[in-house]
Amino acid sequence: MLNTPNLSHGRHTLAIPGPSVMPERVLQAMHRPAPNIYTGELIDITYSCIPDLKAVAKTQGEVAMYIGNGHAAWEASLANTLAPGDRVLVPGGAQFSKGWAETARKRGLIVDELDFGRRAPIDSDAVEQALRDDKAHEIKAVLVVQVDTASSAKSDLAAIRRAMDAAVHPALLMSDSIACLGCDDMQMDNWGVDVVMTGSQKGLMVPPGMCFVFFNEKAQAARARLERVSGYWDWEPRVNPQGYYQISCGTAPTHHFYGLRVALDILVHEEGIDNVLARHATLARAVWAACDAWASGGPLEINIPDIAARSNAVTSMRIGAPYGTQLRDWVTAEAGMTLGIGLGMATEDDPNSDGFFRIGHMGHLNSHMLLGTLGSIDAGLKSLGIPHGSGALEAAAQVCAGK
Ligand SMILES: *Cc1c(COP(=O)(O)O)cnc(C)c1O
Repeated sequence: MLNTPNLSHGRHTLAIPGPSVMPERVLQAMHRPAPNIYTGELIDITYSCIPDLKAVAKTQGEVAMYIGNGHAAWEASLANTLAPGDRVLVPGGAQFSKGWAETARKRGLIVDELDFGRRAPIDSDAVEQALRDDKAHEIKAVLVVQVDTASSAKSDLAAIRRAMDAAVHPALLMSDSIACLGCDDMQMDNWGVDVVMTGSQKGLMVPPGMCFVFFNEKAQAARARLERVSGYWDWEPRVNPQGYYQISCGTAPTHHFYGLRVALDILVHEEGIDNVLARHATLARAVWAACDAWASGGPLEINIPDIAARSNAVTSMRIGAPYGTQLRDWVTAEAGMTLGIGLGMATEDDPNSDGFFRIGHMGHLNSHMLLGTLGSIDAGLKSLGIPHGSGALEAAAQVCAGK
């Protein structure tokens, strides 16, 4: 059956905050018969990924690799550091900090949430106060989502570490950097973050299916105090393997390792991680410049007003129901592009978050792709008659031009 003619029939673009766009070279590296898992190339590739992953997180600590998505990283980080009955502080307020908090609760942890709403980052002064109030040092860990992919708020981990130190509190600082590692800076060692985790499918540009948990000596000491750690999540044999089989606690994620090797070649050895971060920073500014122009004449609004608290990886937008859903549907059908949905943004007036959309600007992304995304949104606003200010593409092009 033939559709009516339209402009969607090119290469489809996924502009959602993960899975991100992957380099062809990553995909091609994965396109191969099953490799030998006992000896040879796969084993060399696996070991070679470890220092490069540490370079991305800027740590001399350890990294454990798991077959699993971001939710698995949540489990792994908690399983190695905390026992049921331990108390944790979860500052945040948007969907992903709530999700990690819920995972903690299901593991039998006692969770204190500090809610900063869905439009703001974590206030480190409030964290400091909560820790000062915990005179008995019952709180064993502070769980921070560096970039909450739902709100697109980025929290300042260095400031949170300073707040913890000011309160002279011994809790671990753990960061869910799943949305943003490889897009927003992470200086795990400099900032004093004890555990950092990420998934394969966002800044690392590999399909979903692997996750990575980085940890330092303080986190390892917490692990050593536990009576037991479930065999699968235990990071100990994964970083001190007696044999290759232990690195993955079973069969390795063979093809992911081939893809990851190439992705790390690109990020660490070809482009360079600080250049990768700078590229994401510029592309993010191009998004915000376009949004500011649209916002000048209509309902569109960047969800995070504070520029310092915005992420280089994802931008959440408020546009009012039903415009968000209409726009997402339009760009998919008419422009061959998929935008992110509103997550955890429901209100009484907008129970299905129809007033939201998100632009993922993470991973294998350059200016022509991003300008295409912004141009398609601009076309959608025009086609649907959604009021908007003009000059968005001009503003974004100025940023990409280095002006
Ligand atoms: C994507 C994401 C997750 C969840 O990852 P899954 O792979 O979907 O389990 C968790 N936290 C953050 C911040 C994320 O961006």
